[in-house]
Amino acid sequence: MLDAIKYPAAPLWTGDFYNEGINRENLFDKLKEECGVFGVYGHPEASHLCYYGLHALQHRGQESGGICTSDGSQFHYHRGMGLVKEVFDNDKLSSLEGAVAIAHVRYSTAGESKLANAQPLVFKYREGDLAVATNGNIVNAPEIRKRLERQGSIFQTSSDTEVVAHLIARSQHDDIVEAVRDALAELNGAYAFLFMTNGKLIAARDPHGLRPFVLGKLGDAWIFASETCAFDAVGAEYVRDIEPGELLILDGAGMKEDRFSPSLKRAVCAMEYIYFSRPDSDIDAVNVHSARKRMGRQLAMEAFVDADIVTGVPDSSISAAIGFAEQTGIPYELGLIKNRYTGRTFIQPSQELREQGVKMKLSAVRKVVEGKRVVMIDDSIVRGTTSLRIVNLLREAGAKEVHVRISSPPFKNPCFYGIDTPDRKELIASQKSIEEIRKAINADSLHFLTKEGLIESIGRLSDEEHGGHCTACFDNVYPTQVPNDEETAAAACGGCD
Ligand code: SF4
Repeated sequence: MLDAIKYPAAPLWTGDFYNEGINRENLFDKLKEECGVFGVYGHPEASHLCYYGLHALQHRGQESGGICTSDGSQFHYHRGMGLVKEVFDNDKLSSLEGAVAIAHVRYSTAGESKLANAQPLVFKYREGDLAVATNGNIVNAPEIRKRLERQGSIFQTSSDTEVVAHLIARSQHDDIVEAVRDALAELNGAYAFLFMTNGKLIAARDPHGLRPFVLGKLGDAWIFASETCAFDAVGAEYVRDIEPGELLILDGAGMKEDRFSPSLKRAVCAMEYIYFSRPDSDIDAVNVHSARKRMGRQLAMEAFVDADIVTGVPDSSISAAIGFAEQTGIPYELGLIKNRYTGRTFIQPSQELREQGVKMKLSAVRKVVEGKRVVMIDDSIVRGTTSLRIVNLLREAGAKEVHVRISSPPFKNPCFYGIDTPDRKELIASQKSIEEIRKAINADSLHFLTKEGLIESIGRLSDEEHGGHCTACFDNVYPTQVPNDEETAAAACGGCD
């Protein structure tokens, strides 16, 4: 009786997360990845390399994708809404000629999901064409935008990247490198930038190193990516992480290693290790899967519980669950299975079907969990609604006890650095005690990894506070100045702009 079903006007979910019974209010119970950037300098098949690179970075953004190439005298350019495989085909890629390219996958909040904001953004300025792609968030972009608007600038998009392009265009310097330097000097935030003209490719990482950014080599070509997994996808070799505050300039003379800022207090995003990055990526030479396994081991030492099986919420919690199982000797089992083939779902079950238990993306394996005391490992709790549903899934499948262990500290504070988080008042850990959260998610017991345990598990990148990591969403210690008015700021941080 499909006719009887009243479909909602807009899709209620588009992300890759457990979604039974979800509505727009709790859509973002899982944190959303930011964006991914990929760049090539000096390869005849630059557009095809970008395509494969973006595929590997697809987990960082599924709303839109784009590639801009330069053949040395003009740009060739295509962007579109949807997954990389939906945006590009062979003909489109072949039409993107040139040996230099920058590319982007973007996540955005639902309201900002439109083609005008898809990257790379391409501009004409007095010195010629300029393309920009970024991963991150510029905390002071709203202020700069207001100032520029008062001075007469007209903006086409709501994107922070356009703000940066305006700063470049207004620089007193004709030389693009100096103009980029001028623009970056005004920014406060987290970013991995790729700028391209018809002669140069420029890469810049924010002075705290908040967002990951790596440099690789494929034959004579240089490759740039948000994560090393993209190098593996194109057969490139990892060279090094781009340093915080570093500016790399590539042109006919080769690659020049320069800086636009001294390296400030290092603050690599801890959530990249916990949740965002792919397990096969390395960030600052630390493998993400191995770091997650150590988090699971540490969690077992901090909060052991006697149980029959350990299971991880797929996919990002599986490594930590394996670590927990190894440390305790409790067998790891596939108690939860993700349906990998739902893709982007536009046909929604009605409320009635949802209440009947239509579960599209995650299932508990009855024969595995029935009658068992289950330790369920998850990477984080945002609002708590998803955790409640997963615990209930396990219980409905016959689990005798469900003990929840979270491989990160309580997530209490919003992120201003490119991660789409709800307001503080919607973060369950900022509103409730751990015992209250335990009750709210219907768990028999609940423990979070300590911050110290987290830092030791990832490994210290430096002797600085927090081992060189940003842990602001756990401890409210932000590495840069952030606005006091959180609601304004949270609105400004809707994923990568
Ligand atoms: S506040 Fe949290 S999510 Fe945001 S950059 Fe820092 S560690 Fe990452």
